[in-house]
Amino acid sequence: MAPARIEQPIETRLFINGKFQPSKSGKTFNLTNPATREVIAEIHEADEEDTNAAVAAAKAAFPSWRDLEPCERGVYLAKLSRLIHDSLDELAYLEAISTGKPISAFVDGIAAESHFQYFAEAGYQVQGSSSLNTRNHLNITVKQPFGVVACIIPWNAPCIFFSLKVAPALAAGNTVVLKSSEKAPLTSIYLARLAAEAGFPPGVLNIITGFGKPSGSTLSAHMDVRCISFTGSYSTGKKIQEAAAASNMKNVILELGGKSPAIIFPDADLETAAAATQSSIQFLSGQMCMANSRIYVHEKIADQFLALFKEKFGAARLGDPLDKTTTHGPQVDGIQYDRVKSYLEIGQRDGNMTLGGDAKDGLYIKPTVFENVPEDSRITKEEVFGPVVVINTFKTESEVISKANDTEYGLYAAVFTKDIDRAIRVSKLLEAGTVGVNCTSPTTAKDMPFGGVKSSGIGREGYGISLENYVETKSILIRVNPE
Ligand code: NAD
Repeated sequence: MAPARIEQPIETRLFINGKFQPSKSGKTFNLTNPATREVIAEIHEADEEDTNAAVAAAKAAFPSWRDLEPCERGVYLAKLSRLIHDSLDELAYLEAISTGKPISAFVDGIAAESHFQYFAEAGYQVQGSSSLNTRNHLNITVKQPFGVVACIIPWNAPCIFFSLKVAPALAAGNTVVLKSSEKAPLTSIYLARLAAEAGFPPGVLNIITGFGKPSGSTLSAHMDVRCISFTGSYSTGKKIQEAAAASNMKNVILELGGKSPAIIFPDADLETAAAATQSSIQFLSGQMCMANSRIYVHEKIADQFLALFKEKFGAARLGDPLDKTTTHGPQVDGIQYDRVKSYLEIGQRDGNMTLGGDAKDGLYIKPTVFENVPEDSRITKEEVFGPVVVINTFKTESEVISKANDTEYGLYAAVFTKDIDRAIRVSKLLEAGTVGVNCTSPTTAKDMPFGGVKSSGIGREGYGISLENYVETKSILIRVNPE
């Protein structure tokens, strides 16, 4: 049953200039619950006109918002944080019915609450520098907001990406248009309701729902959007970067996909390694950018590791995402389910499936293991975005580093060993934005920059660094006349 605070019918309109409004074209699209496959809501679809209206509202709101002091902007962010705190059950429910995320795995609300809380206080960190190094000058730099920032987010953890982008962008003095994923619009619309309750001035935060085309592509090509912050797939990231370059050279932050390796050396604590690596690829039914979808285990301990890994991985509880005991939900929709199934076929053709497979029950895929898969198979190379792991063996350190790095992706890598020299040597050589030593994803740290190298992205996000994403540096040169 829906928590009492969720009004029926669920709000599905666009939030532009401080008001909920239907799409101008009247167009809507159906949202389906992936667990029951029932239509649960009719969502208003932003087209080009709606998207332009949201950008125009953000542009109009910018000067007054920019001119507030950080503590004045912070009041709204802090209020939104408190409202999120009071709405954790509602957000978990909406995510479960729209994306199939088990409520037992919903950590997103607490993350969103803490992002808004942190950035409510952080605005004063936006600071420039000064220099007396030029004769007869006092030179200073100031950091200033871009103006209108567009945020485009994926469906797998919408509340996290919403808050990780919107909170620092607003704290730094920008105004925002956020487009949620067409697969997961409900929590973003609910956050819009909370933003309205928090009393943000009209136009400061606009939330629209719609598809990549036309809504997302309108934002990426928009001449009044000066910065775009995107989390999603590599192929969409590429299109956004192209559109940014072809329009107004807007600043681009891209957090993209991964094919993250975990390496298990013979001296590792195998219980810990098996528990952590299976949880990484099982969490959110494998629909996590940094999931360790490739595991390289030393041949000496492969049998022992595989037995422990499969026992834990296979114990995931498939079921109703609204049931507190469920740990493994369905894939988010039929498109993702078919995509994962096509990789299962590739894996069975190229290697051995030794656990799992299609659950043959709605959109569920069981925790699945492939062994003996060639390094050049598409299932070893490409992001599957399902609970599917390739486990291969290795003999030497240099061999496994070269296998781990043989990918265009570079989001997260993990190494399990008790040898500190090896841990540091390997961490240094792994091509990844984050390396876990005796831990793996989703372990992250709030104050550590997160992002990818190579084709996994451009830029970093996190407490200490996100404000920098949303400001530009200006040098002001002040001539000082000598006596
Ligand atoms: P996606 O790229 O299909 O969609 C992401 C967003 O982009 C959606 O809102 C979508 O509507 C929009 N979009 C689609 N086409 C567009 C276009 N031409 N122009 C502008 N916007 C467009 O990704 P997804 O399926 O929602 O999410 C899964 C992907 O996201 C995976 O690749 C995953 O690894 C990645 N991801 C990365 C991180 C990270 O932090 N690096 C985190 C989560 C997910």
